[in-house]
Amino acid sequence: MALPWRYAYRVGMHIAKQKLKGNKKFPLVLELEPLFACNLACAGCGKIQHPHDVLKQRMPVEQAVAAVEECGAPVVSIAGGEPLMHPQIDQIVNELVKRKRFVVLCTNAMLVRRRLEKFDLKPSPYFSFAIHVDGLKERHDASVCKEGVFDEAVEAVKMLKERGFKVTTNSTFFNTDTPQTIIDVLDYLNDDLEVDEMMISPAYAYEKAPDQDHFLGVEETRELFRKVFADGRRKKWRLQHSPLFLDFLEGKVDFKCTAWGIPSYSLFGWQKPCYLLGDGYAKTYKELLESTDWDSYGRGNDPRCNNCMAHCGYEPSAVLATMGSLRQSLRTLTDM
Ligand code: SF4
Ligand code: SF4
Repeated sequence: MALPWRYAYRVGMHIAKQKLKGNKKFPLVLELEPLFACNLACAGCGKIQHPHDVLKQRMPVEQAVAAVEECGAPVVSIAGGEPLMHPQIDQIVNELVKRKRFVVLCTNAMLVRRRLEKFDLKPSPYFSFAIHVDGLKERHDASVCKEGVFDEAVEAVKMLKERGFKVTTNSTFFNTDTPQTIIDVLDYLNDDLEVDEMMISPAYAYEKAPDQDHFLGVEETRELFRKVFADGRRKKWRLQHSPLFLDFLEGKVDFKCTAWGIPSYSLFGWQKPCYLLGDGYAKTYKELLESTDWDSYGRGNDPRCNNCMAHCGYEPSAVLATMGSLRQSLRTLTDM
C-alpha cells in the first residue's frame, strides 16, 4: 500500500528544503507529549511512572505550539500519557492544523466516546486519530491490563469514522505475539474495521516499564515480521510506513539510528536522545541537536540501543534513504 500522496509530497518537500539549506540533521516528526497522566496502566509502558506532581501537569497550548514552530517538523504526533485527558487538547490540535502540520492524536480510546463532544475537533486532511490496538480482544486487553478496552477501541473507531475523521491505529508487538496473532489483528483492522492506515512497532524495552520479560530482540523481530509479511500480506495492508522501514523490520536492509529525525518534546523539554531514552533534556531543538553526542547512540554504540528497532530511531533513516533514491521514492508513491 502506498503512502498518501499529500503526506509523502509534504515530507519530500521538507527534506529537499532542509538539504538546500545545508542542514544535515532536522526533524520529520515531532513526538509531542503534553502530559504524562493516563487512565490506563499498561505493563509495557515507560511513560506513566512519574511522581504525582508531574502527572497532574498539563502543557500550555502556547508552549506546545512554540515547540512545533521552533523545530519545524511537518508532522506532529501527540501522545503522552492520554492526550484526551488534556483539557485544551483541541486547541493544540487546531493551532497546529491551522499551520498546516499533519497532526496525529494518539489515544487509548477510553475517552473518545465520552469526551469527543466536549472538544472542538473537526475532520481535516491534516488531522487523524491513532487508536492504540495491540491485538484482538483477549490479546489487547491483556496488553493494556484491563478488560473491555478492545471493545471500547472498536466502538471509538466506528464513531470517529461515522463522523468523518481519518482513523489510523497504532499496534505494538511483544515476544508473546506470534505471526498469527499479528496477522489476525492487522487483517481485522484492515478488512473488517477498515481503518485508514495502520502503524506497527516492536516494543522497546523501557527501563522503567514494570514488565521487562516480553520485549523482542533484533533477530526475533526480523523473524517475526518476515513471517507476518509473507504471502503478499504486506502489500495488502494499508501500513503507514515507508517501504524501506518495513524492509528494515524484516531484516532486508539495516540502517543507523537517526533519532534526531523524530525528536520528543514533553513537559521536561527536548528529550535526549530520543522518545525512549532519557539522558537529560534540552531547552530547544537547536540545543538538542548541538548538545547530544549522536554517534554514541544506536545499536553497537550503547547497550540500551542493542534491541531497538523502533520507528523513532529508524523510520527517519528509511525515509532519508528513500528520498536519496528515485526507485525507492516511486515505490513509496505506488506500491510496497
Ligand atoms: S495507554 Fe499508552 S500512555 Fe497509557 S499506560 Fe498504556 S501505553 Fe502508557
Ligand atoms: S537506537 Fe536510537 S531510537 Fe533506539 S533507543 Fe537508541 S537512540 Fe533511541
